[in-house]
Amino acid sequence: MPSNKIKFSYNAPARDVESLKATIVSKLIYNLCCEPSEAKLTNWLNAALYTVRDLSAQSRLHTRRAIKHEKSRRVYYLSMEFLMGRAFSNALIAENVYEAMKQAFTELGLDFDAILNQEEDPGLGNGGLGRLAACFLDSLATLRIPATGYGIRYDYGMFKQEIENGRQVEKPDGWLAQNIAWEYNRPSKKIPIRFGGQIYYENNKCIWKPSDEVVALGYDQLIPGYDNDIANTLRLWSAQSSDAFSLNDFNRGDYFAAMEKQNFSENVSRVLYPDDSTTAGRELRLRQEHFLTSASVQDILRRHLDIFDNLDNLADKVAIHLNDTHPVLAIPELMRLLIDEHGYEWTQAWEMCCKIFSYTNHTLMSEALETWPIEMLGTILPRHLQIILEINEYFLNGLRAQGYGEDLIRRVSIIDEDNGRRVRMAWLAVIGSYKINGVAKIHSDLMVKSIFADFAKIYPDRFTNVTNGVTPRRWLAIANPGLSALIDSRIGKGWRKDLEELSKLNQFVDDESFLQDFQRVKFANKQRLADYIKTNLGIEVNPHALFDVQVKRIHEYKRQLLNVLHIIYRYNQILQNPDADWTPRVFIFAGKAASAYHTAKKIINLINDVANVINNDGRIRDLIKVVFIPNYGVSLAQIIIPAADLSEQISLAGTEASGTSNMKFALNGALTVGTLDGANVEILNMVGQENVFIFGNTVEQVEALRAKGYSPFEFFEKDPQLHEIVQQITSGRFSPQDVMRYQNELNLFSDYYQVMADFRSYVEIQKQVDQHYRNPQAWAKSALINTANMGYFSSDRSIIDYAENIWKVGPLLSYDKEVYEAENCVFEDELPEKI
Ligand SMILES: *Cc1c(COP(=O)(O)O)cnc(C)c1O
Repeated sequence: MPSNKIKFSYNAPARDVESLKATIVSKLIYNLCCEPSEAKLTNWLNAALYTVRDLSAQSRLHTRRAIKHEKSRRVYYLSMEFLMGRAFSNALIAENVYEAMKQAFTELGLDFDAILNQEEDPGLGNGGLGRLAACFLDSLATLRIPATGYGIRYDYGMFKQEIENGRQVEKPDGWLAQNIAWEYNRPSKKIPIRFGGQIYYENNKCIWKPSDEVVALGYDQLIPGYDNDIANTLRLWSAQSSDAFSLNDFNRGDYFAAMEKQNFSENVSRVLYPDDSTTAGRELRLRQEHFLTSASVQDILRRHLDIFDNLDNLADKVAIHLNDTHPVLAIPELMRLLIDEHGYEWTQAWEMCCKIFSYTNHTLMSEALETWPIEMLGTILPRHLQIILEINEYFLNGLRAQGYGEDLIRRVSIIDEDNGRRVRMAWLAVIGSYKINGVAKIHSDLMVKSIFADFAKIYPDRFTNVTNGVTPRRWLAIANPGLSALIDSRIGKGWRKDLEELSKLNQFVDDESFLQDFQRVKFANKQRLADYIKTNLGIEVNPHALFDVQVKRIHEYKRQLLNVLHIIYRYNQILQNPDADWTPRVFIFAGKAASAYHTAKKIINLINDVANVINNDGRIRDLIKVVFIPNYGVSLAQIIIPAADLSEQISLAGTEASGTSNMKFALNGALTVGTLDGANVEILNMVGQENVFIFGNTVEQVEALRAKGYSPFEFFEKDPQLHEIVQQITSGRFSPQDVMRYQNELNLFSDYYQVMADFRSYVEIQKQVDQHYRNPQAWAKSALINTANMGYFSSDRSIIDYAENIWKVGPLLSYDKEVYEAENCVFEDELPEKI
């Protein structure tokens, strides 16, 4: 039917320096309406973002066409957090225009690095979980797997952290003010999200009459694959009040009520973490989870019906992944849509659900497992609660029929009857998913032995492991250009797509000239960080000193406190024995504490108090410097991690599910000091025990201590040096202006995370670290062995594992680019008639 097709031409975006220059200036004028002579750096950044976005847009259209042609099975990755980092530099390397863009700006007389630094980090996540989602999106696109990320476009991301008088102060992070040019607003993608109200029956059919409604608006960010013609999308939902609900009041002249309703509705996407110390805050969080999942599942069904006539083949074409339990409401939401809106029978709908969902568990700590009071869920989502109860009944009846006993049935019931009737979201996730994975070997093993032991008996085939990974594009190519160039010069550039190629570096571990080059790169990265610290904090650090780094969320289980105890230990030792052969160290910390987590905030305070005393004690000279760098985030991590000599991964064994910064550090040639926890165990296996410093109790020892009744006093008593340190902290040695500051609240005397039990083994291993560092060549060799053996920890490997073993999806085929790009006939065979 060629008569229905229209021919047209378009200007394909070009990648050469001259065209880039011209396009940037055009974008400045026509997209931003900005006078070039008056343009600020942020205007130039946005003009350049529009320019490179055009390149990715082309890949996106190609990807959509490929999906339609191939009718591919697709992945939908649902996550309450995405910690994307800056989009610009990533898009530039993905589209292979980094050097050309740099040249273009140089020729325009502008400082390229200054422009890169204009971009705000969208802080739509908290830590590792959100960053994992971001690394996975990068790998999915690079591996050509059709996938969409779904999340929330919070107006305010994670707060901006400032340090005032040593204490964390939270400032709002209004990231939206800056970033305008990377996203596409999709006003036509309006999805109604309903809450509250009542359910009743009519002709045996359940009807839900909600009491309020919010509209979810989609905003898309393109996720370009590295060096291919694929771009996936991350769709973030923003809440808008539903006209139907506020216009009534408005028209009646009740502007206040209208405003109030508008505010209430739109609060759903206001902040990343509502303060969960109040009921209102917890309710808001539940509303957010429903908002994300309902918008996403409705959108997924719409996309499916764009390509197929009906939903019968949904389970063949759709894989929905739940990143932790936060999006688990997607399960009852899909049930609701299938039954109430698409007319499927309950069992038919459930059968489909059980082939669609998979779930990643991120923590075994029972206090971190999400549960909701049944009344709260019933008030906010009555229909969903009812479906959850039906799922539970169906599941438990099945167990009874198979002869399981009532004890087990009580333990695996979605409803926890013992703590005021709560809905256990992790249980719902397990019952509704066909695969459940942990994120490191040790974590997955413990998962089926501890929290999911009963379920592992019921569903032996559901549980599996996918060890986390990190994207080599951001965490090596972008973060560490010096090391990347050195690696390229010896083994080529292929590692960006196949990180296992780094193993070719093993041939250089005894090559002196290579090791010297490797050390020079590390030194330059340390100098870069030292400059950052000098500029931003006014503290001088010696780049020849060992850079000992712990950057991650501040949490008791991660044991920043253990690190501080070692610093004080070292301080005391130097004062007692000033002339010994000390290895100078710079201790670097960064990380945010949740705003309501008082103990974690005290730990930040302590780090800064200790820093203040030691850094200003002339007797210490340059032997110890302690630096807390405020406002940790992806961009800061990109500066800190390549500069580290030593990576602190010292969580209590059994508490850190995987960790991913441990991988980023080792990839960038830092040696790990760590416990046998999370992915540290696998890093040890990859690099060999001579190239990593392992200390502390094992999971079994931790459990044994706990079982016999752990007491930190036992450890103070037999260790006078530890006793002295605790004494110093609690008596105000580091807070002379406020001696009571650390008497309570640090939990030193309950010590749930067994800091005191691991103290001695920690300071002993740190002596080995010093000794190893005193031989620069031996250290460099170990560092290189770390880099060379990190191939396994690419998120590409993780995603291949998910794709093959969990989602059962494959890559899109290569499209015939010639047809696509030929002038005058673009889209010729594709345009729908109405255009
Ligand atoms: C990698 C990363 C994390 C995770 O760090 P862990 O040490 O594994 O907890 C957290 N925040 C940011 C910004 C990261 O880049």
